[in-house]
Amino acid sequence: MKNIYNLTIEELEEYFLSIGEKKFKAIQLYSWLYEKRVKSFDEITDIKKTVIEKLKEDFSIEILKPIKVERDKLVNKYLFELYDGSLVESVLMRHDYGTSICVSSQVGCNMGCKFCESGRLKKVRDLNSYEMVLQILAVEKDINERITHVVIMGIGEPFDNYLNVTNFIKIINHPKGLSIGSRHITVSTSGIVPKILEFADFPYQVNLAISLHAPNDTLRSEIMPINRAYKIKDVMDALKIYYKKTNRRITFEYIMLDGVNDKEEHALELCKLLKGMNCYVNLIPYNETNNIQYKRSKNDNILKFYDIIKKNNIGVTIRREFGSNISAACGQLRSKREELWRHFI
Ligand code: SF4
Repeated sequence: MKNIYNLTIEELEEYFLSIGEKKFKAIQLYSWLYEKRVKSFDEITDIKKTVIEKLKEDFSIEILKPIKVERDKLVNKYLFELYDGSLVESVLMRHDYGTSICVSSQVGCNMGCKFCESGRLKKVRDLNSYEMVLQILAVEKDINERITHVVIMGIGEPFDNYLNVTNFIKIINHPKGLSIGSRHITVSTSGIVPKILEFADFPYQVNLAISLHAPNDTLRSEIMPINRAYKIKDVMDALKIYYKKTNRRITFEYIMLDGVNDKEEHALELCKLLKGMNCYVNLIPYNETNNIQYKRSKNDNILKFYDIIKKNNIGVTIRREFGSNISAACGQLRSKREELWRHFI
């Protein structure tokens, strides 16, 4: 049975038309689901009983509950168990400008980035749109406040689950859905070129971030196997087309790995690569894990790297470090839990 939170407003309108009802019922139902947050169809008072019965026959309205939460001052990390026993994570971060959530889009990930805990756990399946929507609803319920920003950058490669991710964006962006402004939504990809091109025509003003992490193919292919399929030049060419169509600034994510990609020469190479682009670089101090050999760059090297980019007139920030003491790197909570389970079985 389909979960009701999987439906975009257009799909819900079609559904109501298909059962002989007016399509405005879709808006009514959205408002019960996302504004009033009902827990069952029976709580809905302005849709007639026969229609409610039909909804109950056709859809489930189950929500997600976290099975584990780790809390820190600025960050909460949630572990969810899905209907088939799969585990995914979401991370809530508090900023001066609001709260953001990092949502997972797949169970595991096939991209195999060497520095990533999720990359060690191969993809089991794509998440449905509702499983992404419900991560947000569950976290909002837990903190009893609205989330203002959404980043699709948790476990999984969002462009490897394109349809569900774009439907998810439609649902959370709708004014009667979660009403999260499109400029507050960011999709982060490791660089799947055909999907970057497709996304250029996606008619929502959402942000695009590229997990670059290295300024040349040799190094990037070493730490991100996806680079063997789509070279940096292919990604940059696709981004030029994307920018031409959308006029939206692109963010480049760059994880700082000690002695790997954090040298002066890398910063200079990065500046050369990004010269003339309307873009912005987000330097991310690496969140070390026990299972992966990479280490976080030293503060001095991060600052030197930052200065070089800034001097080259490219927008740059160093991401504030969140939750290094609570397994906040993507995949850490899930893999910790799986290790525990393996231990107990
Ligand atoms: S960094 Fe992202 S794309 Fe790479 S393996 Fe991890 S989850 Fe997948």
